[in-house]
Amino acid sequence: MLVDNHNRKINYLRLAVTDRCNLRCNYCMPENGIDFSKKNALFTIEELSRLSGILVSQGIDKIRITGGEPFVRKDLIVLLRDLTKMIGLKDISITTNATLIGPYLKELNALGIKNINVSLDAITRETFEKITRRDAYDTVYDNILRMIAEGFNVRINYIVLKGQNTGDILPMLALAKNYNVSVRYLEEMPFNGGSRHFEANAWDYKRILSHIKEAYPDFEEIPSEATSTSMNYKIPGFKGTFGVIPSFSRTFCGSCNRLRITATGDVITCLYAQPCTNIRDILRGESSGEKVKEQILKAIGSRAKTGFEAQQQHQGTYTNSMTTIGG
Ligand code: SAM
Ligand code: SF4
Repeated sequence: MLVDNHNRKINYLRLAVTDRCNLRCNYCMPENGIDFSKKNALFTIEELSRLSGILVSQGIDKIRITGGEPFVRKDLIVLLRDLTKMIGLKDISITTNATLIGPYLKELNALGIKNINVSLDAITRETFEKITRRDAYDTVYDNILRMIAEGFNVRINYIVLKGQNTGDILPMLALAKNYNVSVRYLEEMPFNGGSRHFEANAWDYKRILSHIKEAYPDFEEIPSEATSTSMNYKIPGFKGTFGVIPSFSRTFCGSCNRLRITATGDVITCLYAQPCTNIRDILRGESSGEKVKEQILKAIGSRAKTGFEAQQQHQGTYTNSMTTIGG
């Protein structure tokens, strides 16, 4: 079992499989993209599989595949097949923009990979296209409806962006009204790869909640897992639920059970921290299993207590993009 220096159990790995993406969400990266990693700098699928196995043997029992857009890797399904065979790994989930997932839905279902988070920050086509800078609205909506119909557990992640999509907050709840999905509203974070000036917390979770309360005064809080980053609510008569994630206010650090590894091997113990080590070349070297384990233990043994403490360690300057960190 992995336990950090603040006695928090670490059992959840967020594994970014690429930094590339076919969208250009303006809160995530600049219009022309970022300086993407060269192919040989990225873990191969075989390496991702081996790395996952090492971490599962250390006590990781939940892996979320993220990116970049995970499905830009055409061989992603090979990794997913490997993960489903790992004894001790109880939960495999994916975060995706739902543009490229369509052809894989049948196999994902057969593999039992049911938990899919879709990033969708608008219910209107115009706002979607302005934010993502791409014309993929129909594909994304079709795939979401297909996933719901085929029995996936779909959660929508919606970043609330001042001046861009606040008008869609209430219309987006139609998805939770008509379908058993969870719509989760997130605070924007300062990881946009320099795409634009970050305006701290113009819409924090309290403002989002009071905005929803004006339209639906009788929503009720429902229980959430102890390690959940979201607070969740039910509106009477709705099939699904909604939630808020205080990703910038950081109210959840006390129960954080997460470790992040990027597609190039950076180990990140807190979203607001700089990478503490890189394990790619170690994994590619001799006796790699034991050496990777040592690095992971070292990283987990020196985690910041909160995101605010992690931020102070580098004077709060952020030049990175969420497309490398994976969210
Ligand atoms: N491409 C996939 C997707 O969009 O779901 C996976 C990678 S994406 C970087 C992972 C998550 O990070 C998404 O839910 C996205 O909305 C979120 N994200 C990206 N930039 C962000 C920012 N500046 N603030 C808050 N969340 C952000
Ligand atoms: Fe791509 Fe996801 Fe970033 Fe949007 S949030 S640009 S879909 S990686």
